[in-house]
Amino acid sequence: MRLLLSKPTFYAALLLASNAWAARVCDEFYARLPNVKWALCESAQLQDTAGRSVQGRPIYTRDVAPAKARLRVLVIGGIHGDELSSASVALHWIALAQADPSQTHWRFIPALNPDGLFNKPARRVNANGVDLNRNFPTPNWDREALSYWEKRTRKDPRRWPGQKPLSEPESQFLHEEMKRFAPNLIVSIHAPYGVLDFDGPMAPPSRLGRLYLDQVGIFPGSLGNFAGVHKSTPVVTIELPSALLTPRDVEIARMWQDLRQWMGETLVASTPNPAEAPIRR
Ligand SMILES: [Zn+2]
Repeated sequence: MRLLLSKPTFYAALLLASNAWAARVCDEFYARLPNVKWALCESAQLQDTAGRSVQGRPIYTRDVAPAKARLRVLVIGGIHGDELSSASVALHWIALAQADPSQTHWRFIPALNPDGLFNKPARRVNANGVDLNRNFPTPNWDREALSYWEKRTRKDPRRWPGQKPLSEPESQFLHEEMKRFAPNLIVSIHAPYGVLDFDGPMAPPSRLGRLYLDQVGIFPGSLGNFAGVHKSTPVVTIELPSALLTPRDVEIARMWQDLRQWMGETLVASTPNPAEAPIRR
């Protein structure tokens, strides 16, 4: 039977469906993430994408942009599924960006590894057991990633880089997003080491809130190595002090403020004609 709806009824039905869908998404995030109220998730208005995890979960994004943006910044939480606080901070930052995007087109991916995040218990790797932050195509990946895993991590199953670079749908999605969005900066949120790391061609921020710069080195296949070292797209890697507890709201806001101050002082000056490169859809 064909169901015919008038235009207003059709749009009302669409709105109801999208509200119901948003409710389901936020039920899941609210149940799993620390310090995320249901209303905070709802106000983030996460968007579905073509991105899917190994187990078919959607990878959500949210864009916040003023009419005219000078910079494009990609913020990623939950590359490691058991670092729950990283996804929480990304959702809090969406609210802060909505209040004042400040000449920046922000694209947020709060939970890149939803299979790891929603696994019980949550786990670092994706559903194929791959550490997504070792799965990016750094030069010499074939030679270095597996031998690093075998010798330096002693085959730690939490750090398995996969069979080949970009073998996983989640890392493929992020890799494509980087090409589509062409960010001037990537901010990758992790936990629980309580430091700030940086890879890129300009002077790093010295601190974000209570986190101080401590450049710990690079790993074969990591996002910082791939984007920051080899693609010259600066990567700020935030290591929150706890994977299960978020910083207090005032600290989340201070980190955001410090990031924006560094962007204004250093990133804008080092980014020639930042608004000119078009975004590919
Ligand atoms: Zn991590």
